[in-house]
Amino acid sequence: MTLSIYNEKRNFAETSEPEGKVVETGKALRFVVQKHNASQLHYDFRLELDGVLLSWAVPKGPSLDPKVKRLAMQVEDHPVDYIDFEGTIPEGNYGAGEVIVWDTGTYHAHGIENMEESIKALHEGLEKGDLKFQLHGKKLNGSFVLVRIKNRFSKKEGDTTWLLIKHKDEFVSDEDILKDNTSVLSDRKL
Ligand code: MN
Repeated sequence: MTLSIYNEKRNFAETSEPEGKVVETGKALRFVVQKHNASQLHYDFRLELDGVLLSWAVPKGPSLDPKVKRLAMQVEDHPVDYIDFEGTIPEGNYGAGEVIVWDTGTYHAHGIENMEESIKALHEGLEKGDLKFQLHGKKLNGSFVLVRIKNRFSKKEGDTTWLLIKHKDEFVSDEDILKDNTSVLSDRKL
């Protein structure tokens, strides 16, 4: 895993975002969903794996309704330190705009609590383009899947296009979870 693309895109003399370093995994894998008011408002969905945060930009944000499929564009890996980043990325910088931590918590591969086995299953899921996992967050809980879709126009682009879908379980809801728009770290809103 490398954070070179992340580092190349940013000027750390200007932005308060953390500089990218690969770190060791702790007792549990973590996730974060950041709400980011860039040129287009979106949610950044990030899963810790192999010392970095795998990252997807989800324009419409997550849903708890299994009938709803949310487009998720995979973007460059982010450093694990990004997990509690909130603040304003200054004008003229990559991703300029405000960021809040909309949700955070731990996660593991679907049905697998054991760390080693979970990591193995997550790698297999990424490879297949069918990543099933369970979130233990403050707002998001239960089973979700990220499914890679084939883009019929461009092979290259197809590799980065995924859908984020809630799986059926006790956490399913047709309430709009995004109405809860406060940071889970600071009570900030965008
Ligand atoms: Mn973003």
